[in-house]
Amino acid sequence: MTVLTALNGRIPSSLLVLIERGQSLRSDAAASFLREEAAGMPKGCLRSGYRDLDAQVVEVARAKAGLTPSAAPAGQSFHGEGTAADVDEPARTWIRAHGAAYGWAKDHVKNEPWHMEYDPATDRHIPAPTPAKPAPVTITPASRPTPAPITINAPEDDMYLKFATNGSGYLVTPDGVLNLTGQEWNLFQRLKNSQAGDYTGDQFLGAEIDIMAAALKRLKAQNA
Ligand SMILES: [Zn+2]
Repeated sequence: MTVLTALNGRIPSSLLVLIERGQSLRSDAAASFLREEAAGMPKGCLRSGYRDLDAQVVEVARAKAGLTPSAAPAGQSFHGEGTAADVDEPARTWIRAHGAAYGWAKDHVKNEPWHMEYDPATDRHIPAPTPAKPAPVTITPASRPTPAPITINAPEDDMYLKFATNGSGYLVTPDGVLNLTGQEWNLFQRLKNSQAGDYTGDQFLGAEIDIMAAALKRLKAQNA
């Protein structure tokens, strides 16, 4: 059902749409009215649409003079909402027959068969809103797993493994050269003797790091 609002008779012109014969309706009622005309309702029959307060005062005076059966006080007419339409023939017959599905109800006012009121809640012809376009999907390439942090006690870039001509191996660090013995020596031999292709690049680096870490661990233990 429609309700009277505080803006009755003072609807901003930006919310009104001129239909015909100088008559306007609130934009939603206007859109519905135009849909009815597009559906076959004869045009040019809107006798009275929106009325501002002054126009409604005139209407009340006309009713008192017997020129029209009745008129709601200014501020209390649905003409003041822009949702009432006084419709002449032949559109009146059309809207009385077909208007309900467009949200237009009849016989709200006794002895005024021309008076129709619009209720958007009963309008079955309001176009469905255009579905919003789905947002483009951004496909982020699966990130490579973060490698586990390397826990050695010196930057690896500062160290490298060295093969000596006599078959021994060394870990060269900025602080000096460490002879590989014990566990890191075993690792070093395994790396050295492995067939090409036994290690991928990453595995080779991993093996080198293992050797360095083992050597550093021993060095640390010695210095403790
Ligand atoms: Zn009316």
